[in-house]
Amino acid sequence: MFELKVKTRFAGAHQLTMVGQKCENLHGHNWHVEVCVKGDALNPAGVLADFGDIKKAVRAVVDGELDHKYLNELPAFEGMQPTSERIAVYIAEKVQAILDKELKEEVQVSRVMAWESDDACAIYYPE
Ligand SMILES: [Zn+2]
Repeated sequence: MFELKVKTRFAGAHQLTMVGQKCENLHGHNWHVEVCVKGDALNPAGVLADFGDIKKAVRAVVDGELDHKYLNELPAFEGMQPTSERIAVYIAEKVQAILDKELKEEVQVSRVMAWESDDACAIYYPE
C-alpha cells in the first residue's frame, strides 16, 4: 500500500456551543489541513497518482468552499456544529468525490488532519 499526503491551509470562523467556554464566542482559526490518499497500485509512470491532481482536488474543496467563510452558515454544516472533526469529514468526502470523478488511478482518502492550532488536530479516517 502506498500513501501520499498533501498539505494546505485555510482561514475560517466558527462558533461552537457545549464544547468549551472559549469556543462559544465567535472566533477564527488558520486551519492547517493534511490529506492522505492511499492505493495499492502504481501507474505506468511509477506513481500512485500525480501530486498535482491531488492538490487540485484538495484546493477545490478547501479554497473553493471553506476559505474565509463563517463555517456555521455553510449548507454543509446545517444543523450541526462545524468542529474540526466535521471539517475533516467534509473535506474527506468532497475530495474523494472529486478523485472518483477526475482521476484515472484508484485512490482512497485514508486520513484527513485538520489542525486548528499548532498543537491541536482532529484526524478522520474514512471507513
Ligand atoms: Zn474553534
